[in-house]
Amino acid sequence: MSDTELQFELGRAITENELFLQYQPRVLVTTRELRGVEALVRWHHRTRGVVPPAEFIAAAERSGLMRDLEAWVIREAMLQAAVWQRDGARVGVSVNITAPLLADESFLRLAERTMKIQRDPGTVTFEVAATSLAAVERPIAGLARLRERGIRLALDDVTGLDELEASSWNRWDYVKPGRGLVTEAGRSDAAGATLRALVARATELGARTQAVGVEDEATIALLLETGAYSMQGYAIAAPLGVKELWSWSEGRRRSA
Ligand code: C2E
Ligand code: MG
Repeated sequence: MSDTELQFELGRAITENELFLQYQPRVLVTTRELRGVEALVRWHHRTRGVVPPAEFIAAAERSGLMRDLEAWVIREAMLQAAVWQRDGARVGVSVNITAPLLADESFLRLAERTMKIQRDPGTVTFEVAATSLAAVERPIAGLARLRERGIRLALDDVTGLDELEASSWNRWDYVKPGRGLVTEAGRSDAAGATLRALVARATELGARTQAVGVEDEATIALLLETGAYSMQGYAIAAPLGVKELWSWSEGRRRSA
């Protein structure tokens, strides 16, 4: 698909409901108790099948479709969270937001309106990628507004200490070391040391560390040593549909 085609098709996908969310469980490092899920968007294209976000997020950003896309994601995730709350499940829900939207007044208003679906905004986290944040002017007012609504903020995809320091002008509830760093930390001493330093600094800044891309027990052992708070990754579960997530959680409950 050419870029123009992709942008046109994506615009249609948003209005015609071809997007859907998968949810990846996030568990405590110490007890592996379910703490929350990260909502990850996918596109079920009519002829191409399921398209991952890496293939369409950038196109959405270039064509100004991000606001509509994120508005859809937040609404869908909040409606799902409301169903879980009604069923008595206390799981936090995280959504990914690109930094430019934090300075977009109409997006902020839309997000605030959508958040009214949520009775417990403290269980919702907006994740902002460190690199997307570095590329824009500090969206201080936008972040403050979300925080005032009780929404938690996570600095996502952090690759090292420098990135954390560069974004430390904001108070982050969570810091998420990037998948590359976490995977590497299980294999190399240098990456392991970077991860340790990152968790320690995040803690000093008052943030909890949520590790992403945890694929094996060796990495989990390392996370336990570092004092990281929670983790997600294939070692726990891949991103799942709502029904699969339910069976996964039932399966764990039964074997507990
Ligand atoms: P992310 O926020 O860092 O999300 C984690 C990514 O790592 C997801 O890829 C997930 O499927 C993948 N992953 C999780 N555990 C493992 C593991 O153990 N091993 C490996 N190899 N991969 C793992 P996905 O779903 O393809 O998403 C990629 C990125 O796209 C996300 O990175 C996020 O930055 C972005 N994204 C996804 N949904 C949205 C959205 O609704 N809005 C925005 N702005 N960005 C989104
Ligand atoms: Mg994320």
